[in-house]
Amino acid sequence: MNIASVIVDVPAKQTDKPFDYKIPDKWAGAIVPGMRVIVPFGPRKVQGFVIGLKDHSEFDSLREIQEPMDLVPVLNNELLALGNWLTEKTLSFKISAFQAMLPAALKAKYNKKVKLAQGASIEELPESLRHYFEGGKAIGWEDAVKGGLVPVLQKEAAAGTVEVLYEVRERLGKKHIKYIFPLLPPGQLKEEYDDLSKRAPKQKELIDYFINNPEPVETRKLSAELGYSASAIKALIDRGALGEKELEVYRDPYEDRDFPKTAPLELTPSQRAAISPVKAAISEVRHEVFLLYGVTGSGKTEIYLQSIQDVIQKGKEAIVLVPEIALTPQMVERFKGRFGAEVAVLHSGLSAGEKYDEWRKIQRREVKVAVGARSAIFAPFENLGIIIIDEEHETSYKQEEMPRYHARDAAIERGRRHNCPIILGSATPSLESFARAQKGVYSLLALPDRMNNQPMPEVEIVDMREEMRSGNRSMFSRKLFEKIEDRIEKKEQIVLFLNKRGHSSFVMCRDCGYVMGCPHCDISLTYHRKNEQMKCHYCGYETHVPLQCPECLSEHIRYFGTGTQKVEEELGKLLPHTRVVRMDMDTTGRKGSHERLLKEFSEGRADILLGTQMIAKGLDFPNITLVGVLSADTMLHIPDFRSAEKTFQLLTQVSGRAGRHELLGEVVIQTYTPEHYSIELAGSQNYDLFYQREMMSRKVHKYPPFYYLALVTVSHGQLMKAVTVTEQITAFIRARVSEDAVVLGPVASPIPRINDRYRYQCLIKYKREPSLPENLKHVIDRFQKEEGAGGLQVSVDINPYLLM
Ligand code: ADP
Ligand code: ZN
Ligand code: ZN
Repeated sequence: MNIASVIVDVPAKQTDKPFDYKIPDKWAGAIVPGMRVIVPFGPRKVQGFVIGLKDHSEFDSLREIQEPMDLVPVLNNELLALGNWLTEKTLSFKISAFQAMLPAALKAKYNKKVKLAQGASIEELPESLRHYFEGGKAIGWEDAVKGGLVPVLQKEAAAGTVEVLYEVRERLGKKHIKYIFPLLPPGQLKEEYDDLSKRAPKQKELIDYFINNPEPVETRKLSAELGYSASAIKALIDRGALGEKELEVYRDPYEDRDFPKTAPLELTPSQRAAISPVKAAISEVRHEVFLLYGVTGSGKTEIYLQSIQDVIQKGKEAIVLVPEIALTPQMVERFKGRFGAEVAVLHSGLSAGEKYDEWRKIQRREVKVAVGARSAIFAPFENLGIIIIDEEHETSYKQEEMPRYHARDAAIERGRRHNCPIILGSATPSLESFARAQKGVYSLLALPDRMNNQPMPEVEIVDMREEMRSGNRSMFSRKLFEKIEDRIEKKEQIVLFLNKRGHSSFVMCRDCGYVMGCPHCDISLTYHRKNEQMKCHYCGYETHVPLQCPECLSEHIRYFGTGTQKVEEELGKLLPHTRVVRMDMDTTGRKGSHERLLKEFSEGRADILLGTQMIAKGLDFPNITLVGVLSADTMLHIPDFRSAEKTFQLLTQVSGRAGRHELLGEVVIQTYTPEHYSIELAGSQNYDLFYQREMMSRKVHKYPPFYYLALVTVSHGQLMKAVTVTEQITAFIRARVSEDAVVLGPVASPIPRINDRYRYQCLIKYKREPSLPENLKHVIDRFQKEEGAGGLQVSVDINPYLLM
């Protein structure tokens, strides 16, 4: 077995297959599948994943693996297989699938260098370049760019005198701490002490310290805190009295936190009924997908905790997925509180190093539970006993770049391989999952009531058009404002929610209606208060806020839309003594700020918590008795067949924040379209009716869960090119699907231009098309050749969640 099959880190169609390399004798036995290696590939060195070993190759004169990058495989056999599955399901490159499973810190980065080409002599170079390459030196790419040398170097490269070299560089190492420890027992240290001359008082002190404290001590602590000099330490190391060693330490983001231990609660009868089939599947080592459908506060999390406990008792491991924005300190606390140091937490708030350390705890079997956002589904456990996906309806479980996978599908696939159950939990399950539960594909577990039978909060829907008609131009309806005043009086707390998604603050001319758009994308620019700038969220274009309308020169151009800052200002004017905590992207950017703001609110140091999506979930504070939704319908107008579903889910989710404890809760939803069923039914918290209405609409319009979707998006700098290619693709696919399928296109994407690239799409709706993946692959293959050179981009998204 001295030949390795390697998937190289060159994401392109031509390289999306294993390449054979010889394993040099010195690495024999040291290189195994799942390990990263550095291999020569063409003129450069790239990273690759070993996916298998063999004795023979059909190719002769194989090149050799240069060196391994890991001491132990970073992907186990199951994950390697899962990578292949992922590749097939999402039509992505194998390398992208493998990379997606690893923490960012392990993703390769390359140092690009230019050096003298093999066989070329320095005299062949122009005088001005020679000194960069003298004595075999190379020039770093960044330096070349900075020095404006790229054009000359390009010319030389074309002439064959210089070449570009890629060097793999690990982005991040492990963290090590140095320790000093005595090499001799106390008795001998005493002898050393006596031997030392009086002229070395510092060394004598240090020996004295170790006679009394034989434990290893951090080098830094020894010198910085205890005040021993570095030279004394060094002298004693040289003398052989002390030793120095490096120990690897983990960067633990929760190091300074104490999590009060919690014990399992006595389950209620409905919780017991829900958990027992899960426990049965665990003990029978059987794969089964459960949909745990229960309103917020019905005790789902306690079921997760107790199922995991079962799994741990059997010596197995658990993965819990939580949407990024719901991965609040409160949520983490509940898992850490129950399972303590057995839990690793993976979320985007951690630095790359911290994430890497948490991941390695899993890899080294030091923890039993991984709690994290989407990519935690790839936690390298080997003996999974359960996978839980909380808030399973959240669209953030779908990755929007290659590999375009959905964590739910990956979870079910892993569950199948490990013979373990999956719990999908939600108060508002996705239509797809609920439909599967109705059909018996998933097993439905219902928790119909809130704990202690607290009533669901009372929800009132306010028609903002009425408010306008009666002359109220404020962003608060009279009803909501009255209630806010009332709660402040009673010293109870309020959550105000502003849906930011699809609701940017834009600049509009009051006289002619001109809206300021991005010159490169067909989308309006977003107003950023902080630096008075207008920004494009798609391409990053930035410009100043105009003083005059570019169209009609009117000065009545100003920004519209209610950003959280504007609401905060308005509250400050109307209720000057009210304390408001604002949580949005701007105020929670810095590490730990999320936690700090929540703490401020939970300790009662603020009356109102004002925020975007991120406050919609997970909050559980006893004193919240009023929730106000300032603009319920902004999400309804996004061109997406799921917009009603998303609106319903979000409103239900937000409403669930009120009255979770002894105090009764009230919810006020402000809207311009009170008659829309998603708003009306969120008002009465009637999921079942909503499900029926929405299923009807999906059936009529041939959308999931009745049909599957595949979306092909084509983009190019020239409009005609984008249209023509999309036309070709549409015709190609149309000729190769059955009559049941619907192939729509070419149509302009909802955002028809991004970054000066025109975007067209072909949408395929289908029920059963076994050859569709093959045909889509063909489309990718065919047009990939034109990519790069022609600037054409063709992407395929199977089961898309973003139709933009
Ligand atoms: P969900 O995850 O469905 O929102 P939780 O599990 O958070 O619900 O439960 C809501 C509240 O009820 C929490 O404060 C939780 O501690 C409490 N709770 C859950 N199960 C029980 C139980 N069996 N007995 C008493 N309290 C419980
Ligand atoms: Zn104007
Ligand atoms: Zn733009």
